[in-house]
Amino acid sequence: MDRLHTFTAAMDALLAHRPDEAEIIERGSLLLRDHLLAHDDWLPAAMAQPHRQHYRQYLLYKDAQGRYSVSSFVWGPGQSTPLHDHTVWGLVGILRGGEVSQGYRRQPDGTLAPDGPARHLQPGDVGAVSPAVGDIHQVLNAYRDRVSVGIHVYGADICAIERKVYALDGSSKPFRSSYANA
Ligand code: FE
Repeated sequence: MDRLHTFTAAMDALLAHRPDEAEIIERGSLLLRDHLLAHDDWLPAAMAQPHRQHYRQYLLYKDAQGRYSVSSFVWGPGQSTPLHDHTVWGLVGILRGGEVSQGYRRQPDGTLAPDGPARHLQPGDVGAVSPAVGDIHQVLNAYRDRVSVGIHVYGADICAIERKVYALDGSSKPFRSSYANA
């Protein structure tokens, strides 16, 4: 897990000078890519175990000051999320396999419609979410025949945050994610 420690030290240094969200996303994406996504030799196997029925999230690191968290997202073949939001910035990095992220935007009539084409993220790629850059999306494993693993960084302990899941008609329900290992 040395690479994780190096990454979190670099994140701490980045956040120490109180950058705005755009800078966190820009520089944090490069740190995530260079420290964690460029080498697939550090994630413990226990943090990459899929569940038979649904995607899983494992907590890898939680900042003591609550400024960010790092987790692995493990997708069984063909697994997906519902449409959901985050309420904080998030960096979606790919370690193995691939994730497809489709953003959604609220229409004048209140319904949700795709916001441009889906983004197909490959190992080494990093996508971003936030209320400023687009916060509602649906994510799926890009593959129907194998496990994919993402490394996600959020500007909070994401499982401590009250979020929402959405239906295409624009209606929402409260949502809080949970870690498989906490
Ligand atoms: Fe998400």
